[in-house]
Amino acid sequence: MSKVKYYYDPDTLSYRKIEPKKSKRYRNIFLFLMGSALFGFLGLIILLNTRWVNTPKELSLEREVRNYELQFDILNRKMDQMEQVLGNIEERDNNIYRLYFEANPIPEEQRRAGFGGVNRYKDLEGFNNSEIIIDATKRLDIIQKEMVIQSKSLDEIAKLAEEKEKLLASIPAIQPVSNEDLTRMASGYGWRSDPFTKARKMHWGMDFTAPRGTPIYASGDGKVVRADNRSSGYGKHVRIDHGYGYISLYGHMSKYNVTVGQKVKRGDLIGFVGSTGRSQAPHVHYEVFKDGERINPINFYYGSLSAEEFENMLRLANQENQSLD
Ligand SMILES: [Zn+2]
Repeated sequence: MSKVKYYYDPDTLSYRKIEPKKSKRYRNIFLFLMGSALFGFLGLIILLNTRWVNTPKELSLEREVRNYELQFDILNRKMDQMEQVLGNIEERDNNIYRLYFEANPIPEEQRRAGFGGVNRYKDLEGFNNSEIIIDATKRLDIIQKEMVIQSKSLDEIAKLAEEKEKLLASIPAIQPVSNEDLTRMASGYGWRSDPFTKARKMHWGMDFTAPRGTPIYASGDGKVVRADNRSSGYGKHVRIDHGYGYISLYGHMSKYNVTVGQKVKRGDLIGFVGSTGRSQAPHVHYEVFKDGERINPINFYYGSLSAEEFENMLRLANQENQSLD
């Protein structure tokens, strides 16, 4: 409280109170407000610069940053796992799949190649946590690229597998008649005595004896290229083109079950056993051509014979007996 001051008024002969000037009072109020504002401001500056005193907002931001760091750590661990799994797939890809299908392995440098040229991570620079963000982004970019390369490789393998499957389905791989106890094979490929002239002569196929009318089966997928009686000696015969240079021939049929141009699958019934043409008794004369050459059909029964049966068949086929032609 300021002191109340008086003065003597000679006109009224009395003491009167001195009223402070209004402008002075306002000045005092202004000074007081300015003073407290300045004081408060300084206090605030000090408060904000003091490390051990944080505002609630700062505290929550700090918690958030710590949470991000933790999450990045977890993400990095997940990327570790992804890299391991991907590495394992790549190894199998190079050492098993690509090897099996005779494709060259994909070189390591090509799989792990980063990105050259411009700095792709410029936008991420200049922050306190730039390093962890750039590292994680780089890793993910490389993983992504590896996955694209792997995916393309598997596409290629799928295509190769499809081709191989087609090849395996196409080439002759079973016997032309049902021959469970292997008693039907009468004469093999090689030098045999001719049933008519008894002279030693090359027998270009294998003979399977069977009663007239026994079903004859296609030994592989393909297309019928001949079904006629116009080839010398073979009588009524069928030829199937299997692609990849393979053709199979079935002679001395009593009847065809297919027409030229027809597509057949391995095991399809194509005709019946007979003795047409130059034949001594009902049988199928079976030949396999590779690139125009007649080769030994004995090597093409792996689709239906066990190792033991094959050996048995080999022994029988090598006997230099008389063919049925
Ligand atoms: Zn024959």
